[in-house]
Amino acid sequence: MIACVAFIYVRFSFGEDCWSKNACIDTSLCAAKGGTSQPKLCKGSNNIQCCSCANCMEATLCKSQGGIPSTGICPGTSTNQCCDKAYTSVPINDKTPVNRMLTDLAEILRGAGLSVIESEGWQTRGHSVMTSVKSIICHHTNGPATGDFPSLRIVRDGRKDLVGPLSQLGLGRSGTWYIIAAGRSYHAGTTIDDSVFGNPNAIGIEAEAVGVPLTNSGHEYWPEVQYQSYIRGVKALQAAYGVPASRVLGHKEAAAPVGRKPDPNFSMDEFRAALAK
Ligand SMILES: [Zn+2]
Repeated sequence: MIACVAFIYVRFSFGEDCWSKNACIDTSLCAAKGGTSQPKLCKGSNNIQCCSCANCMEATLCKSQGGIPSTGICPGTSTNQCCDKAYTSVPINDKTPVNRMLTDLAEILRGAGLSVIESEGWQTRGHSVMTSVKSIICHHTNGPATGDFPSLRIVRDGRKDLVGPLSQLGLGRSGTWYIIAAGRSYHAGTTIDDSVFGNPNAIGIEAEAVGVPLTNSGHEYWPEVQYQSYIRGVKALQAAYGVPASRVLGHKEAAAPVGRKPDPNFSMDEFRAALAK
């Protein structure tokens, strides 16, 4: 009862304000972070609303429970983050492929106006068919510093300890897409939920980058043409296969245990917010 009175008093005395000025953000960004927007609590245009999260917790705890933590919409220290487990509730839909090769990959990306190079034999390449496409995982190659997609051979044929293909798709520095395989590819490893993010259920995209320095913010180490093509291509794949943004993860988010992988070195929150636009 005392807490209740105090709550009313705080609301009353500070008037129609968001709980934090920093939580006044674009509604689509809020949704991408797993938050809920409330109108009329923030100054500015109508799309800037008060974002709050009903599921704040320590980021490490969130990840250990298979959730995706996002910064900026929870009170307290920066490690107290909004834990979005939205991906768990997404149903299979009528666009979801079932036990087939993804022989439509080139057509999907070309249809989005993207430049596409088909690696010979891609339509039959893969470690068996895809069980499904429930998710898309974004990687970077850790490859050489020059060339458009110098990692093509490794991604297609594999390396000593792992036979290729290592992903279905590659993305060059110029924004050109490389179609490598239509079937299951070894890119994800152990994940936070293999029924959604494991290789049988996830499309892998290896984007060419040296991969350093490691960062979780912005996308300053990526050529803009490549970054914009990354967004456009993923959007096209999402539309074709019915994959929501909550199931577009960076390898660093999908990999288990937490911290096993650092790629890609850009902000996945920013990337997912761009997918929503
Ligand atoms: Zn990776």
